[in-house]
Formats: sequence, structure tokens, C-alpha cells
Amino acid sequence: MTLVAVPLSAGSPDALLADTLRAAAAGADLVEWRLDTCQQLGASPDEVIAAISRSSLPVLLTIRHADETGAWSGSASERCRLLQAADAAGAAYIDIEFARLADLGTWRPQRARLILSAHDFTGMGGDLVRLVERMRAAGGLPKIAVTARDASDLAPVRDLLVSRSGDLIALAMGEHGLPSRLLAGVWGSFLTFARLDEQAGSAPGQPTVTELVGRYRIHAQRPDWRILGVIGSPIAHSLSPHIHNAALAQDGVPAVYVPFRVEDPVAFWTACGAWIHGLSITIPHKHALLKQVEGVEPLVTSIGAMNTIFKLDEKSQGGNTDAAAIIACVEGAIGNLHGKTVLCLGAGGVGRAIAHALASRGAKLVIVNRTHARAVELAAEVGGLAVSEAEAYSVPYHVLVNGTAVGMGRPLESPWPAARHRAGSVVFDTVYTPLTTRLLHDAQAAGAITVPGLDMFILQAAEQYRRFTGREPDTALMRAAALARLNPGA
Ligand code: NAP
Repeated sequence: MTLVAVPLSAGSPDALLADTLRAAAAGADLVEWRLDTCQQLGASPDEVIAAISRSSLPVLLTIRHADETGAWSGSASERCRLLQAADAAGAAYIDIEFARLADLGTWRPQRARLILSAHDFTGMGGDLVRLVERMRAAGGLPKIAVTARDASDLAPVRDLLVSRSGDLIALAMGEHGLPSRLLAGVWGSFLTFARLDEQAGSAPGQPTVTELVGRYRIHAQRPDWRILGVIGSPIAHSLSPHIHNAALAQDGVPAVYVPFRVEDPVAFWTACGAWIHGLSITIPHKHALLKQVEGVEPLVTSIGAMNTIFKLDEKSQGGNTDAAAIIACVEGAIGNLHGKTVLCLGAGGVGRAIAHALASRGAKLVIVNRTHARAVELAAEVGGLAVSEAEAYSVPYHVLVNGTAVGMGRPLESPWPAARHRAGSVVFDTVYTPLTTRLLHDAQAAGAITVPGLDMFILQAAEQYRRFTGREPDTALMRAAALARLNPGA
């Protein structure tokens, strides 16, 4: 089992011991006491070492020098003295930069396990295989921390871990490297680092211990678990890891779903696609991998966008679950769409999915878009009509769908005038932040039947989950996970 280590720094031994208790309560397996930063905060190094015996978790003791991006400014001999004292006081692990091993002279820990670290804060660290061999030959547990510049840099870290012989700690720092921390149990890293909730981490891209233990089930992860995820840029805001992991955990599926911040999707899929079982794809990459997959579901080609990759008989398949979700949202409110008039606001990515999905169900599409030429193009594709906004006011629609970004994060803005709503019509807003948009508010007031964007989000995720796992997801659980994220205080 991969261990979870929480780096801690505090200005006194008592504060350090209190944070250690909190780390233990959150599910950490050990704490890394950073003696260099503790001293910087005012703690006496000898008093911190004397507190090791009172720690509620095993202690990894680290003293990083200022030129190792730490805060230590003492001499090499003083650091060696403190490490010897920590070993005698019962530290479980002692960490030193591999490049500084000579500072220890011939001394080696008697009780603690020696971790030999190599950090590259700007790049991928060169020949990692050779470096690990040299660390092992020197008698240490190797720790490799490199810096990912894109998610494709995860591949060498994963390769290093899965081909290891013996214990190894390896991770990629930075937001692009975050999955290396979240997948540490699948890839077999000896330990992974997480920050205590509310505290700044000791390195960029660290998850909190609560996230790692809870959402990503790090202690349950095994090498045969399937890896799922979402790609986009930015990606930190994504709701998808919350809802997919909630469902995977409830169903006991041996899989974990992580956010991949990806800048170059083709390079990412080329480097990592072989070990990824399923992907959600979000902005701006919905068009990028169309040529990389081995097959596509109906509607993907006509919409020209793919929001899902899944493996079928080991072959990669592209899907567009937005389309299925849009159909379910609208037909759930109005029933059979054949012959019904749908007024579609927007001709961007979602507008295209709305028009093609609903046209495939026999609806008559009328499309209005800020950039009229896009509406004309899309209308021609689906056999519909492109109109100006003024012309749209007199369209006798059954269904109004907002596929524009208007109203997103702006609760006072609506893409449609309040006075133009039609009682008895269906109004579906794909925007889901806020949950009740101005458009939906106005539509309800005018006697329309409303469908919120969160319904689409949950349904498209549920369609992905079926493709990823072959199981029927608990959509109520997915919705609760999304709402907990959107309204954390509620
Ligand atoms: P997109 O490809 O960038 O298209 C944006 C659309 O909004 C275009 O039609 C654009 O018109 C229009 N637009 C943007 N700003 C406007 C403004 N100020 N006034 C009028 N029209 C404006 O984006 P997308 O991927 O289609 O996403 C659109 C929205 O769908 C997102 O904002 C999101 O809220 C929602 N969405 C929901 C889900 C869900 O699951 N519920 C999933 C994905 C997206 P132009 O062509 O003139 O630029």
C-alpha cells in the first residue's frame, strides 16, 4: 500500500505535534517534519527532534539547505549532527539530497530508513533510470521529484515506477504533474505527499490529504486499477473527478478518475493513451483527438466534437455524450420531439451538439447566434433555419435551448428577453453556474417548463460512466457530489 506523507512546518514542537494529530485524523500514514522551515518559523531544532518520540505518526525528518530550495543555512556538520540525533530519537525516515550524501561522511542511520532525494524544479531530471540505480547502490530509498511541463511528462514517471525493482518514490511536481500524486497507489510509489487541509503544500501541485484519501481512495489503489480522467486546460475547477469518483467508490469499481491538465492533447494521448482506460474531454480539446481514436460513435463526426474516449475491446472509441444528454433533457420535458420546433440560441460547440442531437430526433431547428454566419452554416447542416435575434422573437417555438455562454457566472444576464417567453414551452439552459440562471428564472415566471444545465452535466457524465465501466451509475449520488462541490457550505 502506498503511504501518504504530510509535510509539516511549525514554530514550536507543540504546534507540530498538534498538526501531526490533525494529519493522522485526516488519514495520513506519516508526517514529514521540515526541520529547516520549523527553525525558520522560530522552533529550536533540538526541541523539535526531542518531540519525535511524542509524535502520533511516524516521522520523516528533512533538513533542506537554502541551495536545495530549503531554508537551512547551517553547516554540513551541524546538519549531520541533527540527523544523527533524529535517528537516535526514533525518526522513521531521514531524507537527504542525493547530491549531498557526502555530507554524512561514513555515518548512516541505525534505526531510520534513509531516503535519497533528487529534485528537478525546472525539468524532467535527465536519465532517471540511471539515477535510481545510483541511489540504490548508495544504500538509499530513491525519491525522484521532477517538474512536468505538460501532462505527457507523466509517462516517464509512470514508466519508472511500474518497471521499478524495489521501493521507489517518484512524482512529477506542478499542476501538470498532479496525477502522479493521485495515481501513486496504482503506479506503486512507496509514498506520496499531500498537504494538510487549509495549509499551503510544500511543493506545487500537492493535493490535500483529505482529497487523496477520500476522493482518490489512495489506500485502496492497486496496480490493476483502471485509470480514468478528464483532460482540459484549465482543469482544476472540473466537477468531473468529484462525481465520477463518488460513483466508482460507491460501486466498488477498481478504477480512479483524475484531472489531467493538458496543453498538447495529441502529445498527451500519444504518450499516455495506452494506459488510460477512459477520458472525458473538455474545453479546449473537444476537437483535438478526433483523428487519434480508432472508431467514433454516431453524431461525433457530424457535430465535429468528441467529449469522451473509452476503450472497447482494447480499441479507443470516441463518443459525444453531450448529445445523448441533450436529447434526454429535452425529451424528458416534452416527450417525442418529432415535428416540434426548437429555437437554439448559439452555434458554438454546445450549439452544434444541440442542433445535431435534436435534429436527429426529428425536431425542426431554428438557430440564432451572435455571429450569424455560424448559425447559417449550422442550419444548413441540420436542415434548419438561421434567423436574426429580432426574427427569432416571432418564432412559435416549442422548445428554447440556450447553448451560448451568456449567463455563465453572471446571474443577472440572460440570452433571451423575459417578455419573449412562451407559457407552456420548454426552456433548457445548458449553463449550470448559477444553478438557476436568469433565463430559467424568467421562464419559470412566464409559465414555461424549465430544465437546468446541471441535468445535462449529470446525464453526460452518467453516459460516460456507462461506457467506462459498463455499469448503471447512481445519478442521484453524482448530483449530490456535484452540488456539494458547487455549494460547499449548503
Ligand atoms: P463555445 O464553443 O465557445 O461557444 C460559445 C457560444 O456562446 C457561441 O455561440 C458564442 O457566439 C456565444 N456567445 C458567447 N458570448 C456571447 C455573448 N456575450 N453574447 C451572445 N452570444 C455569446 O462554447 P461551448 O463549448 O459551446 O459552451 C457554451 C456554454 O455551454 C458554456 O458556457 C457552458 O455554460 C455550457 N455547457 C454546458 C454543459 C453541460 O453539461 N451543462 C457542457 C458544456 C458546456 P459566437 O459564435 O458569436 O462567438
